[in-house]
Amino acid sequence: MICFSSIYLKSMEFTTAEPFLHKGLLQSFELTKYILKTNVYPREPSPLKELREVTAKHPGNFMSTTPDSGQLMGMLLKLINAKKTIEIGVYTGYSLLLTALSIPHDAMIIAIDPNKETYEIGLPIIQKAGVEHKINFIESQALPFNQLNSSSFVSFQQKDNEGSFDFAFVDADKENYLNYHERLLKLVKVGGLIVFDNTLWGGTVAQPEEAVSEDRKESRRSIIEFNNSVSIDQRIEIALTPSGDGLTICRRIR
Ligand code: SAM
Ligand code: CA
Repeated sequence: MICFSSIYLKSMEFTTAEPFLHKGLLQSFELTKYILKTNVYPREPSPLKELREVTAKHPGNFMSTTPDSGQLMGMLLKLINAKKTIEIGVYTGYSLLLTALSIPHDAMIIAIDPNKETYEIGLPIIQKAGVEHKINFIESQALPFNQLNSSSFVSFQQKDNEGSFDFAFVDADKENYLNYHERLLKLVKVGGLIVFDNTLWGGTVAQPEEAVSEDRKESRRSIIEFNNSVSIDQRIEIALTPSGDGLTICRRIR
């Protein structure tokens, strides 16, 4: 399942020089470029730069995690010294590669996506960067998790996996964000982080529904429901940052 449509593609604004760059939530090419050019691109590891350039040629390129959000996630991973991580929604692997580059040599990532073809676009770069050994890619929908039968996969039913993950990143079907949240809260340890991407959904969460294009309405509703729910969830601390398309950082506290 690929979460984009031609209508959405047409609605994104691209420059010809930088087909991958859009205004983002800032609604300003200038400010977006300023952030990227002053602080993000000069520090972006070369494998990530290479993956970004390869992904730019793919029609779904706008799905990639934005480099500024990537920079923030890389810092979070290092701050909590993450060793056991899980990612739902891989695409060509920008967030996956940045995770692999940010965690120690003996750390691991379970990466789930039903689309292996797009994962394989980035795989040669992941291999060249010498971090493939950290990744266990599972070609599957993440829900229902009990469909996953790989012995190396951690089922939510398996008690010994509960509370064992340091970090989770969710960037897949928005309709299931609350389902992922409930399940990941069991897997992630107290003090661990669950990060959700696209939680401002192009700014549409603050617009009246009638102003939103048809193809974005359903996911918008799910994101609004998710945002409302986590905002009162006493099991976590949260920070909703306007980085990229909105990044909600949840820290499990109980
Ligand atoms: N994090 C990625 C990156 O940095 O490039 C972008 C992920 S992209 C926005 C969404 C991905 O979620 C797609 O590759 C799609 O195949 C995947 N996806 C869609 N439904 C899914 C599901 N039910 N379980 C897991 N992945 C899913
Ligand atoms: Ca995303």
